[in-house]
Amino acid sequence: MKQAGRITGEALILAGEAVKPGITTKHLDDIIRHYIEKCGAKPSFLGYGGFPASACISINDQVIHGIPSANTILQEGDIVKIDVGAYYRGFHGDSANTFACGKISAEAERLIRVTKESFWKGVEQVKEGNRIGDIGSAIETHVTESGYSVVKRYVGHGVGQELHESPEVPNYGKAGRGPRLAVGMTLAIEPMVNVGTSDVIELSDGWTVLTRDRKLSAHYEHSIALTENGVEVLTYIE
Ligand code: MG
Ligand code: MG
Repeated sequence: MKQAGRITGEALILAGEAVKPGITTKHLDDIIRHYIEKCGAKPSFLGYGGFPASACISINDQVIHGIPSANTILQEGDIVKIDVGAYYRGFHGDSANTFACGKISAEAERLIRVTKESFWKGVEQVKEGNRIGDIGSAIETHVTESGYSVVKRYVGHGVGQELHESPEVPNYGKAGRGPRLAVGMTLAIEPMVNVGTSDVIELSDGWTVLTRDRKLSAHYEHSIALTENGVEVLTYIE
């Protein structure tokens, strides 16, 4: 899991560094696929449920599951969500981040910051004996107190030998509810945060999810492990 996580995290950083005006999302996807394959791993998303690329790349009001395209050219001011998975020696890593393309608005900056903060608020709740609801409650509380909303239609998840495993890890919920956390669990925690409504719609391409009110959305995800020594964030690169 650590090795798969490292490859995933490194691929995401490489793609993030390439985000700039004039670049296509297909180019970012190529960077990710080449790096993952160079490491002897496989892109987890390629062919998953028929998904046609190695990464999901979603811009501005697109929440998740955007399909990279040679026709999608990044513009100054875009916020670019890149979601990556790598499968290595039997295990998956899963991680996402939101990158600024050139100079972005103050609102976009704040949205990205609050989304990251909410992830770490969730991670603080990952300890033996706590419950899944503690994670979601901490995320949702920080997001709503910041004036934003969490997407409810899509959630985090267990990650390991399969990309998506039980339990579901919602970005909302009640503290003290849900499955109990135990040493050895590996989870993908991934707040999706909207400036406006939490409602989302799916495009006719069968993949791209966007906000119903077409306002901005941000995403931040890491795969984490609960160990005897506490939490390890497997896809986080120092
Ligand atoms: Mg992901
Ligand atoms: Mg995930």
